[in-house]
Amino acid sequence: MTNARKMPTKKAIKTYWANYLVKIEKFDSIDELFEADYCFACGSIDDENTQYTERAHIKARCNGGSDAVENLHLLCSFCHKSSEFIEGDDYEKWFIKQNAFRMMIEANAHKITDDIIGMLRKGGRND
Ligand SMILES: [Zn+2]
Repeated sequence: MTNARKMPTKKAIKTYWANYLVKIEKFDSIDELFEADYCFACGSIDDENTQYTERAHIKARCNGGSDAVENLHLLCSFCHKSSEFIEGDDYEKWFIKQNAFRMMIEANAHKITDDIIGMLRKGGRND
């Protein structure tokens, strides 16, 4: 079976959700959302990978969910997997809560940076 379904573009999905995402404070501005391939749920981003996010159905297709923009979010593979079996109100709760994941990554990123700086300093460059 070939996959000939016509899915909306990522841009169309972003355009549809932009105001909502800013309203629920997932993004500071619409510009930020369009700057790169941001995960709608956790806000994570990969500058070097334009295929970072995946089109994810809010209501699963097997439960009658459509391919329309209002039923699609752009999620990173982590969020896509963790939300796979969550539907309806639970999805909304999960979605709104998901910023925590972003903060966790950012907190870790600082820790990793500190570790690297520490290692470099310990290495004691002699110049
Ligand atoms: Zn994510």
